[in-house]
Amino acid sequence: MKTIGLIGGMSWESTQTYYRLINQKVRDELGGLHSAKLVLYSVDFAEIEALQHQGDWEATADILGSVGRSVESAGADFLVLCTNTMHKVAPEIERAVSIPLLHIADATAKVLKEDGVTCVGLLGTRFTMEQTFYPGRLQDHGIRVVVPDEPQRECIHSVIYTELCRGVVKPESKRAYLDVVTSLAERGAQGVILGCTEIGLLIQGSDTNVKLYDTTEIHAEQAVQLALGLTPVPGHLRQT
Ligand code: GLU
Repeated sequence: MKTIGLIGGMSWESTQTYYRLINQKVRDELGGLHSAKLVLYSVDFAEIEALQHQGDWEATADILGSVGRSVESAGADFLVLCTNTMHKVAPEIERAVSIPLLHIADATAKVLKEDGVTCVGLLGTRFTMEQTFYPGRLQDHGIRVVVPDEPQRECIHSVIYTELCRGVVKPESKRAYLDVVTSLAERGAQGVILGCTEIGLLIQGSDTNVKLYDTTEIHAEQAVQLALGLTPVPGHLRQT
């Protein structure tokens, strides 16, 4: 079994989901008392969040690059960055280490392609929905991305930072999110990506008829497959 390197704490509310899912999946595959070999470095999210909102992505890249190096020296065979938003600096993190990074948008695109989805809705932070690093990566896989309109994006973004990343789950926010999911489907999305690792705490597949793609679940699943050698290593992750 390979050792999974988790860069977490963004927020810790979703990192604990990664930790649980990865261990459950390893147990389901191997049985008995088997559990995942992993290294977790959990950052102080307040520092990262302040830099995000100041637009100082270079500083976040420096921090996460150095965290990546620590995780590598602690024995990780590959990296899993437990947040969609911070994949904005995935290229800088990849340059800082010599182990591969399992990109969350590539992992998600793989599942979308298997399901034949060519047009998908995207929920996430404003950074994820409005900048090009995430929708662009999906478009590189041939998938068209529909994002919520401005007032909806404001609602989705603020619920992430003021509620979900603080462990607060409110029924009115759940209703608001489900309304956005419905409107994305009405605009042609064949499914909706929960492109923020905390959204699964608020809405799940059983809440709607629209197919949801939970990036935390997908990322954890593919990390385990890679760790256990259950799928061939994707081309871009093949290394030296
Ligand atoms: N975990 C969230 C994400 O997947 C948001 C927190 C962050 O800004 O990293 O994007």
